[in-house]
Amino acid sequence: MTTVPSDGRTVGMSQTPEQAVPTDHPTQGAGAARRTPRLRDVLDVAEELWPAGLAEDWDAVGLVAGRRDAEVRTVHFAVDPVRAVVEEACGAGADLLITHHPLLLRPVNSVEADGFKGEVVHRLIESGCALLTAHTNGDSAVGGVNDVLTEILGIEDAEPLSPAPDGLGEEGLGRVGTLPQGTTLGDFAATVFSVLPSVAGGVRVAGDRDGFVRRVALCGGAGDGLLQAARAAEADVFVTADLRHHPASEAREAVRDGRPYLIDVSHFASEWLWLPAAAQALDRALADRGFEAEVAVSGINTDPWDFVITPGR
Ligand SMILES: [Zn+2]
Repeated sequence: MTTVPSDGRTVGMSQTPEQAVPTDHPTQGAGAARRTPRLRDVLDVAEELWPAGLAEDWDAVGLVAGRRDAEVRTVHFAVDPVRAVVEEACGAGADLLITHHPLLLRPVNSVEADGFKGEVVHRLIESGCALLTAHTNGDSAVGGVNDVLTEILGIEDAEPLSPAPDGLGEEGLGRVGTLPQGTTLGDFAATVFSVLPSVAGGVRVAGDRDGFVRRVALCGGAGDGLLQAARAAEADVFVTADLRHHPASEAREAVRDGRPYLIDVSHFASEWLWLPAAAQALDRALADRGFEAEVAVSGINTDPWDFVITPGR
């Protein structure tokens, strides 16, 4: 697996993607002759890893473009299907781009190339690169966005904050669990900052810097819909992204001892961490079936913010 270097904004990491996920299972099938999968084979594996049935009702996941009988030699992973990412994938000769966020979440009437989404569709098709979305199914799945965050932060005995209706109890949105040892909110926020890709916005915190933290709730991406669940789970702190003024303010007002404290991180950064793990899981699952495809993770920082001005503290 490789992280693709980029000439543009790159993902700055305090750790390499290979270190971000454990590699305790050797790649199976190594040494044996393996076949190049067709797109339909990769889709079967993706469905096993990130079942579409786990997606939220409002979501749009699955195959967006591509021929199911096309060979897939290279798979490229990214958070956002934006122009730079698509250029990166197509430029690298990828046959399949798997993104977390949908390109076409809402219905469209045209994909003419003058619009950026239409341009993306054209670039993909003209390059022979398929596009697959694994969004809220990628959040909820075992080994998905939230499990990866949980693991990287060292949270133990984690369970979903909002279990999937048809799941086995391990799947669902958000996670809540405990740290091996209690710490302060300030030190925990510093840990969160250190494991995430570096982005302009950094990490915002609401609560007493010296407050005790051990029980942690989290939700990669925008998780303000789980503020109540984090409170009900008696979390000391809730880590998520895109917290707006009113949900955050009301969540702070609703608690008497200040908990759960809030840590607001970059939406992109919280989900980028999943990519190396997802690429590795796909690589292993393909190998289990006797297939071989190269997997790569985008190194482009697609967080939309470029800089902040702060009081300097
Ligand atoms: Zn997201």
